[in-house]
Amino acid sequence: MRFREGTFDRSKTGILRPFCPAHAVASLPEINLDDLKAENLSLILLDVDHTLVKWKQEEFSPEVLAWVKKAKEMGFEMCILSNTRHPERLARLAAVLGIETFRGRFKPSTHMYEMALEKYGKKPEDAVMIGDQIMTDVFGANRAGIDAIWVQKMEGPEFAGTKINRVVERLVTSLLYRSLVIPLDTTSDPAPNTPFFERTIVKQFLKFCFVGGISFVIDSAVSYVLMFKIPLDGDLLSNRGGQYLLDHFPSLFRFANSPTGAFLPVATVIAASIAMINSYFLNRSFTFKIKSNENKGKQALRLYIVGYMGLFINLVVRTGLFTIIPGHPKRSWAIATVLSAVIVAMWNFVGQRYFAFRVHKSE
Ligand SMILES: [Mg+2]
Repeated sequence: MRFREGTFDRSKTGILRPFCPAHAVASLPEINLDDLKAENLSLILLDVDHTLVKWKQEEFSPEVLAWVKKAKEMGFEMCILSNTRHPERLARLAAVLGIETFRGRFKPSTHMYEMALEKYGKKPEDAVMIGDQIMTDVFGANRAGIDAIWVQKMEGPEFAGTKINRVVERLVTSLLYRSLVIPLDTTSDPAPNTPFFERTIVKQFLKFCFVGGISFVIDSAVSYVLMFKIPLDGDLLSNRGGQYLLDHFPSLFRFANSPTGAFLPVATVIAASIAMINSYFLNRSFTFKIKSNENKGKQALRLYIVGYMGLFINLVVRTGLFTIIPGHPKRSWAIATVLSAVIVAMWNFVGQRYFAFRVHKSE
């Protein structure tokens, strides 16, 4: 499995959260120290083997030496947390870099992390751990409340015990990569003084409402035709179909007081599904301006997931509000319809922008 760089959306990792790094970066020297500074980090905790130097070796690359030197000049506190069984080699390496090491219970124990925080008088949010192993460096850091940057293991052989960890690591990261995301270009924060109506998100929302209006017309037209315009055996499809549903699934449709009433949810789902085709094509090309032809299928699937969940929310909110709002039924219906439309529009906008049409790096 190829190592992939990026930032993890840790809200999406579920039970794997404790194993999830904040970022994955190809190598230590590629970690941008200015970014760490910008995040108000002041303590860098470093793994040794395959992060700073190859296993069993003592030659640092010029890039690693330059990176450590620069970090010191920028005022970062730094120290090494290593699981090595060879303290003499570790001491020699630390002496070359001129930084401290801690020896304690092995990662993923939080012991060494806590020793370091205490020694430098730092809080977990001031520190970052950089290491090449998910099951020790990253897991231990997360347990101690410290963010971790996962770097790709250097070339070359490694300790037998580490190889076992790598099997689990591959399994975990294959799942974690699903939450490796890069934001849409168009969603980057606007310049601070961009006028309100020129902001990308505002423009997208206005376009989304326009597309939603067209979808609403399509939805209503299809629903109307299905309910009142399609004849069947000298009657209407909605009457015949509704009667069939009442005869065959009486408990499921007992809310309906007429065959047409029983057919309404069916017509609603069919009409919404057809209107979603419009939402898909117009929002994809016009609202969110997806140019690439890749992932069309996945985006359509995600749009339908968002759409059907929205439909469900609509049904629940609308029926619920209709039941609890007092007064004339037509007034209650109107309030329930408008409020549920607003709530579902927000839901669909957020769902399409951040889920259906978001660019997932793993795709
Ligand atoms: Mg290592």
